[in-house]
Amino acid sequence: MRNCSSVSGMVVVVESKKPYYDVGDCISGAVVITPKKNTEFSEVLITLEGTARTWNVSANLGTRVDAKNTFLKMSYPVEEDDYPSPRILLAGMTYKFNFSFVLPERLLDSECDRFASHRQLPPTVGDLGLPWEFDDCSPNMARIAYQIVGKVLHIKDGDGPRSVPYSASTSIPVITSYMPDVRNIPHDNYKGQELSLGDDGFTRLCLSTKALKKGIISRSAVGDLTLEASISKPFVSLKEEPVPLLLKLSYSHGEKVKKSDIRIPKVESVAVKLRVYTYFSTVPMAYMPHPKSRVLDPRLGLYQENFKIANYNFTTCSQTAWAKESDNHYSINATIPLMTPKERVLVPNFWSCLIGRQYEVELDVKLSSGNINLKIPVEVTTNKVAERVRNMSTFKEKDYGVLDTSLHDDSASEDHDPLPDAFSRWTSRGLHLPAGSAEAISWQGNIALKT
Ligand SMILES: [Zn+2]
Repeated sequence: MRNCSSVSGMVVVVESKKPYYDVGDCISGAVVITPKKNTEFSEVLITLEGTARTWNVSANLGTRVDAKNTFLKMSYPVEEDDYPSPRILLAGMTYKFNFSFVLPERLLDSECDRFASHRQLPPTVGDLGLPWEFDDCSPNMARIAYQIVGKVLHIKDGDGPRSVPYSASTSIPVITSYMPDVRNIPHDNYKGQELSLGDDGFTRLCLSTKALKKGIISRSAVGDLTLEASISKPFVSLKEEPVPLLLKLSYSHGEKVKKSDIRIPKVESVAVKLRVYTYFSTVPMAYMPHPKSRVLDPRLGLYQENFKIANYNFTTCSQTAWAKESDNHYSINATIPLMTPKERVLVPNFWSCLIGRQYEVELDVKLSSGNINLKIPVEVTTNKVAERVRNMSTFKEKDYGVLDTSLHDDSASEDHDPLPDAFSRWTSRGLHLPAGSAEAISWQGNIALKT
């Protein structure tokens, strides 16, 4: 496949263009010039440029503020022998200047001295010059584009003014991701719940507990409700592969609680939302923002899109679903397959000086006694990084058993008939812990963040 863009007699042609490029990939092609008139020139410049552009409306002035950061600029040298002599491009002739770039693993240290994550190559975001079929959930205030730029320069005298008789450029789609790193999670967003991260850097376990009261006015607790959830692998950009969310809901009551006070709550629904956060700023970010940072920082922009990616409704089921584990402890275990939203491209998580992209899954369980919920930070990576995570993981997927995709999911396409006995089917599938207990592997010896 070839791709080019032309501005008056000049095109940038990329040979064997890939759907997208990752770090270490080679981008080669040629700048082709067919001048309309004889053109005297000094040199041909060929560059690979990565640019972030943001804009925001100033809170104080109410005016638009724009920012541009060229975080990557590499030149491909044109050999002396490749130039015509004398340096005149003759009308009607075609001149070809080859180039070859390798996308670097990271940016120069001088690009940012605050955060290592800002020195990684961010993915393309919102570049309208690309043939993306789908929306990447970015606002027009945050754009990241990579381009091959060709320019013919003419400098009359040594230091004199230079003119650009010809120029052309073409966009290069870049999708990069890096090994998940706990330092890249905005932990402040997970206060009030326990977040635990696996040794593989990806597995996320979250825990939330709630005391159940006898009545609205009564302060005495008659039971405890605990919601645990884990996600053991990242989503993969441009790949429709379900990510299993493992859920464990527990109810327990003290031994002294009167039998007449015991009311095991009924599960009414389970819903999962995917939140897509795009942060943008017109000044380099000096801290790692989270959704509530905007309250304190009016210069920070946040664009959010939410998608309901799973929804199970149990209000029509009458039978109880709790499995009795002991006289005062009951539980429900389930595996929920999470799909990425249709007609969207989820670019990998990243932080850069002006723009950041993060994802979060919110699990909400509605019970007859009220709601209990959890937020789990998740990542979208490239297939290459997802493979590395899989190889490192102490949580092999087989440990969890088979994905139960037969669950009645209200958010799925409408041609699914509701399963009459969805609730009992749901609970018949357990949270399959590996031998020696996954809890022992995952809940201990990791970075547990308690607030
Ligand atoms: Zn920075």
